[in-house]
Amino acid sequence: MTHVPVTRFAPSPTGYLHLGHVVSAVHAQKTAGPLGRFLVRIEDIDTTRCTPELTDALREDLQWLGLWSAKPVLQQSQHMGAYAAVLDHLRQRKLLYPCFCTRSDIAAAASGQQAPDGSTVYPGTCRSGAFDHSRAPAWRLDMERALNEIQGVPSWYEAGHGRVAGRADEFGDVVLGRRDTGVSYHLCVTHDDALQGVTCVTRGQDLYAATSIHRVLQTLMKWPEPEYRHHALILDKSGKKLSKRDGAEGVRALRAMGWSADDVLTHPLVTKALTES
Ligand code: GLU
Repeated sequence: MTHVPVTRFAPSPTGYLHLGHVVSAVHAQKTAGPLGRFLVRIEDIDTTRCTPELTDALREDLQWLGLWSAKPVLQQSQHMGAYAAVLDHLRQRKLLYPCFCTRSDIAAAASGQQAPDGSTVYPGTCRSGAFDHSRAPAWRLDMERALNEIQGVPSWYEAGHGRVAGRADEFGDVVLGRRDTGVSYHLCVTHDDALQGVTCVTRGQDLYAATSIHRVLQTLMKWPEPEYRHHALILDKSGKKLSKRDGAEGVRALRAMGWSADDVLTHPLVTKALTES
C-alpha cells in the first residue's frame, strides 16, 4: 500500500496571523507534497482567548495566501465531548488524579526542578488523593504510573535525525484537564492527530519538548505513532519567538501596506526559517 503523507497546520486563533504561522503552514504543505493531504485545524479550546472574529480573520488570511485546506477543517471547540471521553477513560484506568493546587501553592512546594520545556515540575502535592470540594480540580497524569504501564519512556522519529530519546520522565505529572477549559493542548492535539490520520506532525521547535508527552499519550491510548518534523522559528531581535503582538510581522499589516500574497510567502524571514528547517 502506498503511504500518503497527511500533515496539518494547527494554529490557535489568539491573535492575527503572523510570519511565524506562515512558516508553519508552508512547512506542513510542503511536507505533504503534491500527492499528500494538507489539513488545517483550528485549536481554539481556550474560548476566552480564541474568538470567532480571530478565527474568521485567520481563515481569511490563510485563504488569501492560498494556505487554506481544501479538506474539512476541524475546529477543536466543537469536539469537547470527544476529549472529555478520553479523560474519562484515563481516569477509569487510574492514570489521572485531581489537583487543587493554585499556582502559588505549586511555587511554594516546588523543588526548583525544571521540565524539558522550562516549566516547573509539579511537586506531587495532590497525588496522594487530597480532595477540596470547594473548587474545580485540574486533572494530572500520574506520569510514573503511566510510564510503568507502557514500560518505559517512548522515543519518537524526528525527520532528518532518526529516533530520538523521549524525556517524559522529566516532566512530572502534567495537566491533561485544565481547571478552566476542562481539557488541555496535549490531550486535544494527540487525539486529533490520531483522529485525522496525521502521518507527519510538522510544527515549530518551541514544541519539540512537548513531543515526549504526546508520545506517552499515543502509547497509552494505542493511537498510531506519527513522524515528527520540527521547524526553525522566526526570532525577534531579542531572540524570542515571534508572538501574536508583533504587528510588523502581521500578515494583515503587510497586506494593508500593499504586499502581495507572493511577497509574504517569500518574505526573507519566512525563506530563512524554511531554509534552516
Ligand atoms: N496550536 C499550537 C500553536 O498554535 C500548535 C500545535 C501543534 O502544532 O502541535 O502553537
